[in-house]
Amino acid sequence: MERNLDHLIATMTLEEKAGLCSGATFWSTKAIERLGIPSILMADGPHGLRKQAGDADHLGLNESVPATCFPSAVGLASSWDLDLILRVGEALGRESQAEGVSILLGPGANIKRSPLCGRNFEYFSEDPYLTGELAAAHIAGVQSQGVGTSLKHFAVNNQEHRRMTTNAIVDERTLREIYLTGFETAVKKSQPWTVMSAYNRLNGTYCSENETLLTHILKEEWGHEGFVVSDWGAVNEAADSVAAGMELEMPSSNGVGQAKIMSAIESGQLTDDALDRAVKRLLTIIFKAVDNKQTDASYDKEAHHQLARETARETMVLLKNEDQLLPLSKSGSIAIIGALAERVRYQGGGSSHIHPTKLDDVRAEFEIKAAEDRGTVSYAMGYDLDSDETSAELLEEAKRLASQCDTAILFVGLPDRYESEGYDRTHLNLPANQLALIDQLASIQPNLVVVLSNGAPVVMPWLNKVKAVLEAYLGGQAVGGAIADILYGDANPSGKLAETFPQSMKQNPSHPYFPGEGDTVDYREGIFVGYRYYDAKEIEPLFPFGYGLSYTKFAYSDLMVDKAEITDQECVHVHVTVQNTGSRPGKEIVQLYVRSAVSSVIRPEKELKGFVKIALEPGEQKTVTFKLNKRSFAYYNTELNDWHVEAGEYELLIGSSSRDLPLSSTIYVQSTTEVIPTFHRNTTLGELMENPKTRPILDYFQSAFSQSDTPSEAVSSDMMMAMMRYMPMRALMAFSNGEMTEEALSTLLDQLNQAVGHPIAMPNSQ
Ligand code: BGC
Repeated sequence: MERNLDHLIATMTLEEKAGLCSGATFWSTKAIERLGIPSILMADGPHGLRKQAGDADHLGLNESVPATCFPSAVGLASSWDLDLILRVGEALGRESQAEGVSILLGPGANIKRSPLCGRNFEYFSEDPYLTGELAAAHIAGVQSQGVGTSLKHFAVNNQEHRRMTTNAIVDERTLREIYLTGFETAVKKSQPWTVMSAYNRLNGTYCSENETLLTHILKEEWGHEGFVVSDWGAVNEAADSVAAGMELEMPSSNGVGQAKIMSAIESGQLTDDALDRAVKRLLTIIFKAVDNKQTDASYDKEAHHQLARETARETMVLLKNEDQLLPLSKSGSIAIIGALAERVRYQGGGSSHIHPTKLDDVRAEFEIKAAEDRGTVSYAMGYDLDSDETSAELLEEAKRLASQCDTAILFVGLPDRYESEGYDRTHLNLPANQLALIDQLASIQPNLVVVLSNGAPVVMPWLNKVKAVLEAYLGGQAVGGAIADILYGDANPSGKLAETFPQSMKQNPSHPYFPGEGDTVDYREGIFVGYRYYDAKEIEPLFPFGYGLSYTKFAYSDLMVDKAEITDQECVHVHVTVQNTGSRPGKEIVQLYVRSAVSSVIRPEKELKGFVKIALEPGEQKTVTFKLNKRSFAYYNTELNDWHVEAGEYELLIGSSSRDLPLSSTIYVQSTTEVIPTFHRNTTLGELMENPKTRPILDYFQSAFSQSDTPSEAVSSDMMMAMMRYMPMRALMAFSNGEMTEEALSTLLDQLNQAVGHPIAMPNSQ
């Protein structure tokens, strides 16, 4: 429907405009009836709908209407399956339409800096490329149904500890390459209707007041067309937020924000233009929501439950399978041990906590499988989920049962109290009573399978005592059926880790700096986050990024790169053939990493730049193709304020995990950006010597200079060069017996700058 928003804004009073910039209630925007501006409804997000019909809260405390609980983001990410995530997004969109919700608050695109972050289960990965692709698919799916998303939490919200006041100190390059790239990809590819500004500060300024983030980067550079909504309660000063590019304060501040915006306009602190721009963005999305609203929407609960089950199967990662203990035989006797099998943990705590339409019973799902071939399934609790204390009685019962069965499946993991939105973990261990259980059972039952329910990595000092480990993460409401499908071999595990599992917390790069000192969190590890660090330090993690086993095997061959050399404006296609060499159908996630062979800046050992998930029947082979572009080779150049490709050779590495890359090839990438240096008093002689445009000028001066201070003939010119290489230009004044004066140096620098193309004299004092 065509609407003249400018005209509408012109008819609004200041009070109405300022009012529109804060919510009406906990979940809705303000309606302005006299102008036909409706209210729209928002709800969490991200892996299910949390629409609260009664009392509202943002901590997952009060009830919400039943909705399908899909696996949380950590699991979705382990599927590496963009089509599947798109389908999950579509289902979330359908459910939102059915409940009259216009904006679903998600997905979360924050990077997993530390495995301790209590909210890692809601985020995708430690890698920005993977994060961006997955978030873009999620957004595209939801929005295809005429429902908006809120890409959150923008930005650098990587811990829960003091989450509303911390100040993340991050250098520009790290910010761009690690913490913003995922958001950038999602915004550029899928245009989320809204972006949610984070609680924390970034380099001193609250994200909700951060003009660099919200206006310069998000709106101007990336072209975001929707509006920015604050995280719930994140606004510090409402008028500063609007000036910086945040349009909607949530939840309602009961008139406080509105009054502050009005007085800022009256005092001239905020301009009318800025407020009008904010209102226009809000109205654009509000009317978009209204135009896309379906009045008779409904969804098929059972179909969505089945989609949740299919999704959960794709998200689980088989970490170990010694002696091919898995898949289980349907005729065997199985002991299911662990309270988490009965009270399965299928989602995380906090604002994403939803009320599922139904919930699989793990034991019942196992019994259905076993019944297909006269197998048996029995259960013992093993430990108390509500405490860490070991119960001798529960242990004895578990041991008795385990010793009578062919195989024992141990359901262990993190209880709700260990990880949640709102606080971080302090260690990576499982509760003591679960550790004791694994220990005791290992002494009497060799066939132990561990199934983990957790939202982020745990350490596994017990790994050698068990034969198989399935990382089930927080698999949503159909997790029980999905685990049974995988353990009994009706589905072949195909998930791979989207995060590194360290052997101990101390291995993690953020370790000494997390969670910071007071409110200050200094990101001192810089770009070396996740596998970028483990690679650079040659550290053997417990399980590397991209790792995951299958019941079948895959062979890689025929790597073909369609060009040996490109410019950074061109694309290159990389083809590789993958064959299923085992006897079961399976899926492989083919990964492509780029390594810069030579670089003048510090770069990670390699970075993920492509991935494809393919299904293969036994013996079948497929050729997959990756398309690489400038960004595949670039780093963020803080002098150019842009992505930059250094001319040179790049290695393309292909395989099944970040630590298993059997194929490689090299390509030369030519840069099309001429980086014009600016010379100043502290530019080194070496830099000028190496530049063909400045070398002649320097040679001329040097000849004059050497007449007055001729080096002894014994000193070779190579040695002289090596010594002078890092000498700053200003030092010529000290070593020229007074011949090089300030004035002469200044003239020389002007000549040098002009020689490389600067039109006018540059300021020399740096
Ligand atoms: C969370 C957001 C959530 C909002 C509304 C906040 O506490 O950080 O992710 O969308 O509450 O519940």
